Amino acid sequence: MTRQPASSAACFRLEPADFGASAAEWNRWEWQFTHRIHRPVDLERIPWLMRDEIDRIDRVARIYPFAVTPYFLSLIRWDDPEDPLRRQVIPNPAETPSADSGSLDPLCEKSHTEAPGLIHRYRDRVVVLTTHRCAVYCRHCFRKRLWKEPPPGDDAIRWNKVIDYLERHEEVRDVLLSGGDPLTLTDDRLDEILCRIRRIRHIEILRIGSRVPVAMPQRITPSLCRIFEDHGPIWLVTQFNHPREITPEAARACEQLTRCGVPVNNQTVLLRGVNDQVDSIRELCRGLLRIRVRPYYLHQCDPVSGTEHFRTPLYKGIEILSGLQGTTSGLAVPRFMVDLPGRGGKVSLQADSFVSRQGSRVFLRNHAGEVFSYEDPGREDLDPGSGVVRAFA
Ligand code: SF4
Repeated sequence: MTRQPASSAACFRLEPADFGASAAEWNRWEWQFTHRIHRPVDLERIPWLMRDEIDRIDRVARIYPFAVTPYFLSLIRWDDPEDPLRRQVIPNPAETPSADSGSLDPLCEKSHTEAPGLIHRYRDRVVVLTTHRCAVYCRHCFRKRLWKEPPPGDDAIRWNKVIDYLERHEEVRDVLLSGGDPLTLTDDRLDEILCRIRRIRHIEILRIGSRVPVAMPQRITPSLCRIFEDHGPIWLVTQFNHPREITPEAARACEQLTRCGVPVNNQTVLLRGVNDQVDSIRELCRGLLRIRVRPYYLHQCDPVSGTEHFRTPLYKGIEILSGLQGTTSGLAVPRFMVDLPGRGGKVSLQADSFVSRQGSRVFLRNHAGEVFSYEDPGREDLDPGSGVVRAFA
């Protein structure tokens, strides 16, 4: 493996030629996937990484494996040890679990697993884990525990159990295919899975959770889009975390998805040292709208063991949301979500706009901190037991 990149050292970025890839190979997702960098020895081709750093990465990777597509590696600026893209995919000694680490499964997914790889936490929705493989292993992933476990299996016996469970549970109307990344499966495999689930009459919504538009946008091909068209409506939920991830390749991938009728929603994870600034989230959300992706959630990073260094205090998310209000279009303001451990579910947090009430007059605070009075049209028809009414009473 060479220590000399073909690209100019001055730009501190890798290019296709540094991986020995032709333009045609670089643009094929199969090439990107099979050439993922996943062993510390592979990192020796990055001339800006020192030996002692590779050794540190190696020690972490023995606990939590890593894998990154050449494409995503080429977006990293190697002259910055705190580069926000690098922080998301290169193992960090801070991941090594300590005595006070969080849980490996804070959302209790294991105890909600009702069939192989099928998680049923909410009455009308289920998650089906299709694979444990991803284009990149994000260091902040809340399913890090799965990376070392045997995959749920892709055989007929497993899928028969999943389909049987879905058929028997008529209350389920929404299926989220997740993992791992479902879009690392082949077209034929996806076609088969989508076809079987689509035959179940009470399943109304099919969602796919995938970071492929960010980490391996070459995967969004015309043939994949035809499969989505055949089994639609399908919604795609992705995870852009930083404005620099919105590249021409990612834009093209999202555009292809929206053209074939797949709405793309984005769930950003709020990460210390990656995007915990108003300006960064504002630029990200505006960029997403430009490529027709809806900035849907800003997610508090879950208390997962090995991700503590990414977690921000709750006020940070509220502060960012307040900074967005009034300074950008409402479409570019995501909801700030916290997934409560155990059976708690998701809650949406926002800056408290309610100040006080005097009779029918309510005093509300706007994004600039100014207080205005508002005439409340009445509350006699509201249920006094409701939390919403109590907050405004
Ligand atoms: S792509 Fe998704 S599932 Fe895979 S490591 Fe990243 S966050 Fe986790």
